[in-house]
Formats: sequence, C-alpha cells, structure tokens
Amino acid sequence: MHRLYENEDISVFWDAEKCRHARKCVTGSPAVFDFQRKPWIDISKAPNAEIWDTVSKCPTGALTILYNNGISVRLEEGDLRSVALNGEQIIGECDYQETEEEVRITHTEVLPEYGGKGIAKRLVYKVVEAAEKSHKRVVPYCSYAAKLLG
Ligand code: SF4
Repeated sequence: MHRLYENEDISVFWDAEKCRHARKCVTGSPAVFDFQRKPWIDISKAPNAEIWDTVSKCPTGALTILYNNGISVRLEEGDLRSVALNGEQIIGECDYQETEEEVRITHTEVLPEYGGKGIAKRLVYKVVEAAEKSHKRVVPYCSYAAKLLG
C-alpha cells in the first residue's frame, strides 16, 4: 500500500511494505501518526518542521518527505494521468492505462529544469494511491515507476 499526504508545502509518502512498526513516528508526532485512526496519518495536526523531523527518523524508509517547492500535483482521471503544475504550466506527468483489474503506468516525465525535486515520485504516488483505493493492481511498465515501487 502506498499513500501520499500533502499540504501546500510538504508531501509525505508512506510505503506500507517497508513499515516495520518501529513506532518512531507514533512517539515523535502522536497527533499526526496514529495507528488507531483512519487515515492513520494526518499532517494537519502538527507544524511541518515537526513532521519533517519525525519522518526523518523513520528507520526503514517507509516514511519519506519532500518540500513541494511551489509545485502542485493532481490526478486527471479523464486523461489517464497525473500532472505536476508550476502555476498553470504543466511541468511533468505520469501516464497510465486502465483495465478492469489493472492500472499500467506507462510513462513518467518531468521537465529537466525541475529534476531532482521528487516531482516524479509525487506523480507516481498520485496514480498508485488512486489505483490501490480502487482495488486495482499496479503494473509499472515505466522504468522509473518500476524502480520506485520495487
Ligand atoms: S517509524 Fe517508520 S517503520 Fe516505524 S511505524 Fe512509523 S512508518 Fe513504520
């Protein structure tokens, strides 16, 4: 299971398969990370700096965090893609195909001048999260997505 939690400034990623319940997150920011709650992560419950500090202490890499740097990411299901936007300009996208049972990620690309900011990761997570919530299997044909999802 992959989940993406965003506010205007940060994106927090959770990869359930890597989570080994060392509980650093729960003790570090109990208002944000609460296994008794659904969804168990709520990034509105603490300042970004606290969340950043707590996520940085996750020993397994299940939790990761990035600054958004003014770039927003949204899912455009009608066009079978997620897009990254700098204002109104599309600066990256992740394309997929859909069947009854699968979401096949076919391509992920970010303009070179926006590289190295984790935007591709946000794009892929946006698609994967939606697919998993629809109970569809994710098949990464795109080499970047395949590497990211392991
Ligand atoms: S600190 Fe990381 S590995 Fe431990 S419970 Fe939290 S997310 Fe899972």
